[in-house]
This record gives sequence, structure tokens and C-alpha cells, in this order.
Amino acid sequence: MSDKFNPLENAGLNTLAVRAGIHRTQEGEHAEPLFMTSSYVFNSAEEAAARFSGDEPGNVYSRYTTPTVNTFQERIAAMEGGEAAVATASGMAAILSTCMALLKSGDHVVCSKSVFGTTTVLFSKYLQKFGVEVTSVDLTDLSAWEAALQPNTQLLFCETPSNPLCHVADIKALSELSKAHECLFVVDNCFCTPALQKPLALGADIVIHSATKYLDGQGRCLGGAVVGRQEHMQEVLAFIRTCGPSMSPFNAWVFIKGLETLSLRMKAHSENAQGMAEFLNQHPQVEATHYAGLPEHPGHALASKQQSAFGGVLSFEVSGDKAACWRFLNATQLMSLTANLGDAKTTIVHPATTTHGRLTDDQKREAGIKDNLIRIAVGLEDLDDLIADLERGFAAL
Ligand SMILES: *Cc1c(COP(=O)(O)O)cnc(C)c1O
Repeated sequence: MSDKFNPLENAGLNTLAVRAGIHRTQEGEHAEPLFMTSSYVFNSAEEAAARFSGDEPGNVYSRYTTPTVNTFQERIAAMEGGEAAVATASGMAAILSTCMALLKSGDHVVCSKSVFGTTTVLFSKYLQKFGVEVTSVDLTDLSAWEAALQPNTQLLFCETPSNPLCHVADIKALSELSKAHECLFVVDNCFCTPALQKPLALGADIVIHSATKYLDGQGRCLGGAVVGRQEHMQEVLAFIRTCGPSMSPFNAWVFIKGLETLSLRMKAHSENAQGMAEFLNQHPQVEATHYAGLPEHPGHALASKQQSAFGGVLSFEVSGDKAACWRFLNATQLMSLTANLGDAKTTIVHPATTTHGRLTDDQKREAGIKDNLIRIAVGLEDLDDLIADLERGFAAL
């Protein structure tokens, strides 16, 4: 190893966000270049053989190595404080690749009930089909996690804060539980991003991202990432290399640019969401506001400890039924009526009939998804304009 001074060795998050993973070419480009090529040329038959066998590092084929994707991987790994990262075609590909690489038939997974809906389907429909058993537990009930452990439990999976009620899991306590049981603890850090929460520093083994959300931040590209220790990332990369859910270099290039402004955006999303939550919380036509930034929210103390801000997603219950919610949504003119989140543009959705529409009535009741619940992923518009839009909704109730 060279002992050349590395200015990024003890650098802070904002420095890593704009500088980690840069390997300039001989052209001397300042911004990160985009390599749109599916394969790479070798200088000799000897070099080709050495690259294929892995004896010599270097690019071969863009299903598993491209300089642009490498820059994204190095940058998100540095920002999460992980040894390495593997980029994937989407957030779901990140979760699937992690499970395919690290689980086998006969293993057992414990997963929080309030994870992203498609994650639940992945676990219940596909993993179970290949002999992986899954138990779902309440995110915030530590004794339920403990009670769900079996001798064959290999992995604990959670998402915190949860969507859409902002319940908060104790990452440190769950990581201690996983260590005592010698299984892996995986956290989907999509809602906070490393700008607000560092699960690896709190003891998690692996962090999952849907880069589609805040890492891009402008709703342009699909992508995902898995971050963790080298031994695990090698297995995940081997799965990607063989099975192909790889990130496109173009998408990686978009995400690299997104990461540069991640901290600034997450602060602004959180500030706007806090302002909106306080407005909703005192509104006479609101029965409940769910946002961990409100002191009375059950997750407030824990979120204050393990997050540096409360994020951009909140939900609230209006006085009225489903029809009233739909009138509210239809009366807004500025916010986008879409299920996506993590975008500069504020999005609004009725969970009971969209994102959580697949749940049975009993499952909805258990998950707290009431018919009068509205979720907002607060964007970067001026708060006054967003509040004016909410007033149009309330006027239609
Ligand atoms: C969107 C989302 C995913 C899935 O990511 P895609 O990029 O849409 O595949 C996973 N987890 C969370 C928390 C999400 O919000």
C-alpha cells in the first residue's frame, strides 16, 4: 500500500458526498465521467485471461464492473460508513440480491410488519417458495422480535422510521439481539439515508437502499444499493454478476450527482416536514398527525437519539371517511398525487386504497392504516405554498 496522504480518510459526510469514489482518467475531468459501454477492451490475450480469472483487477463487462457504478458504490459505502457497497437495478433488486446471496433453503427471517409493501410480497411469495420461512413482528416491540427467534433464524430485517406512521425501531437494541443470536441484521435506510441515520454505526450488519428515492432526490432513475462488510458484499456481487440485476452506468451517474446534495436536501425536507406537521397537528379538521418530529409522537425520543433529523415523510388522519380523503386529495392543486416519495416535488397519497390497498381490512387495522389517513412526502417547495394547498384540501372536506 502507498502511504500517500488520503484527505478523505477522516472526512465528514459532506466531503465524502462530493469527493469519495473519484478516480480521474488521463483526460483530467473534474466531474465524474459517464462510461456508457457494455464491455471493455484488453491490451493482450494475457491481460484478458488475467482479468477474467480475477488475478488482475480491471473492467470486463458492465454487468459487474463499470467505473461509473464503482464511483457510486465507493461513495455510498463511504457515506454509510461501510467497507463496501454493491449497486443494483432497483431497491427491490437490492433486497432480493441480499437474500439470495446470504440465505438458503431452511433458513428463517424475522421481518417488521410495517416494511415497504413489495418487500412483504418478496418475502412471503418468493422466499417462502424457496424454503425460507418468514415471521413478521411489530417494529417497535423488542420482546416480539426476541420471541420470534428460532434456531434457524439467519436474518432480521427492518425499515425505520416506518411508512406511513413513522414508528421508530431501536437499531442498537435490535443489533444486540442479532449479535446474541449470531444472525445478520439488515436495515432498509431509504427514509433517512446516511444524511440522517447511520445504521452500521449503531450495530447493523447491512444497509439497504432504494436509490430511487432520496439518493436521486429528483424522481428520475431506479436503483438500489447494499452496503456492509467485504465478506458479505463479495457474495452479493457474485449474485449480481451471475443473475444480472445490475445498475446501469447512466443511473449510477445520476445518483452520484444526487449524493452530492443529499445532506442539504434531507435537512430541507425535514424542516419543511416539521413545519407541515406542526401546522397539521393544530388543525381542527385533523384527528392525528404522525411525524416523529412532534414531541408527543411515541418514537420521538428514540428518533432524536438515533437520527439527526426526522425526515420528509408524514401522515395524518382527517375528520371524515374515505370519501372525504378523496375529496381532499382531489382539491389539492400543487402537490403531486402519486405514491412515489423522496422527490423534490411533494407527493400526496391515500395509503388505504393505493400503497396499502392489497392488505385485508384486518391487516389494515393492525397496521394502523385507517380510511381517513393521508400520507405526504414533503418536497422542497416553499412551506407557505404547501400549506395553502392543504387548505384547499381542508376546504373540500
Ligand atoms: C421504494 C422502496 C423500496 C423499493 O425500491 P425500488 O427502487 O422501487 O425497487 C424499498 N424500500 C423502501 C423503504 C422503499 O420506499
